[in-house]
Amino acid sequence: MHTNDLSYARKCDENDDLSHFRQRFLLPKDSNGNELIYLCGNSLGLQPKITSKYIQDELDDWANLGVEGHTEGKNPWLPYHEALAKPMANIVGAKPSEVVIMNTLTTNLHLMMVSFYQPTKIRYKIIVESDAFPSDKYAMESQLKFHGFDAKEGLILWKPRKGEELCRFEDLESILKEHGESVALLMIGSTNYYTGQHFPLEKITELGHRHGAMVGFDLAHGAGNIQPNLHDTGADFAVWCTYKYLNSGPGSLGGCFVHERHANNEQLKRFAGWWGHNKDTRFNMRHDFDPLPGAEGWQLSNPPILSMAAIRASLDTFEEAGFQNLRNKSEKLTGYLEFLINNLKNDRITIITPKDPTQRGCQLSIQVRNADKNIHKKLTEAGVISDWREPDVIRIAPTPLYNSFEDVFHFTQRLKEVLA
Ligand SMILES: *Cc1c(COP(=O)(O)O)cnc(C)c1O
Repeated sequence: MHTNDLSYARKCDENDDLSHFRQRFLLPKDSNGNELIYLCGNSLGLQPKITSKYIQDELDDWANLGVEGHTEGKNPWLPYHEALAKPMANIVGAKPSEVVIMNTLTTNLHLMMVSFYQPTKIRYKIIVESDAFPSDKYAMESQLKFHGFDAKEGLILWKPRKGEELCRFEDLESILKEHGESVALLMIGSTNYYTGQHFPLEKITELGHRHGAMVGFDLAHGAGNIQPNLHDTGADFAVWCTYKYLNSGPGSLGGCFVHERHANNEQLKRFAGWWGHNKDTRFNMRHDFDPLPGAEGWQLSNPPILSMAAIRASLDTFEEAGFQNLRNKSEKLTGYLEFLINNLKNDRITIITPKDPTQRGCQLSIQVRNADKNIHKKLTEAGVISDWREPDVIRIAPTPLYNSFEDVFHFTQRLKEVLA
């Protein structure tokens, strides 16, 4: 049983085998040099100390070797992305050939829809959860319009019931029963950015496929947080970013998954570029497009190595910690946060994230009745970096790599003071 005192939180940190990873990160400080309580890894993950060395290595190779760095560098740039496929595949539960790091999230979502959203007059609708991240919705609406459909009519929202915050699987089943013949794509955020609800990916995929639709997931809030077991879900594709839980720096490159059953399907339409072309003949510069098998075949451009170096630093850290270990700690850390918040016994507060640990990652979304952004401002002044979502939700994401039980304890104390 948890208890509500600092010595208990400290004891949990002492018993935590992963606690030393915190020292490997640069923690933001206030103007007096005191460490802030950083609970915003769902928005921008912190910088591993080794990242600058990884980037510096590539700058050195560029300085010393120029163009030769493509083949002669310490980590040759030509196949650089290949070294990232395996550790990233471990994080999302895929085969290395199903994963590629390229572009950024919304760009990848469009590229995937070029291949996996191929509407006909009859089957053209897209289903998305109603509180999806705005960029995803804009991408889907613009794809509908691009194909000549009405964006409002073509986009079906999977909504929570009146008076509820979370989406129910049964309601998605009902939508498909009603619209099944006309649905071309289910495009769902695997872990909803707002409520923190993690959806049953395998069941959703099976449901979508049974009704003849393609199924894709946005893992922006899942990757590095929850193991989505992408390959086993059977989803057609997935996209994610690496600057949130994957700690690879602002605007860093995104990840993309294409299920292996599509690896050699040349009938699929796609937007092509030279980096997706057969490596043996890529530099002949004359051949007809000959796509690489697997996710690599969707690449367009030669990638920014400096951003990839930061991803490499992050993935090395994840490999060392072990994803399952991180997940085990994460459940405890978030469980402790939940305990402390409930212990405040403040009736203005409701945690809207599911209580069941299999239906959430590390984030808790805390709804504060009659609150406005002022409460977030006060928390910031009290040294807590958190995230505010209109109209009344504070999102708190203790990450197992660099957050401690003590962080969670101090946060709750400050929340109490701010609410008083
Ligand atoms: C963070 C996030 C984005 C951001 O998209 P970018 O293309 O990386 O700017 C998009 N969708 C979701 C679900 C997100 O959480």
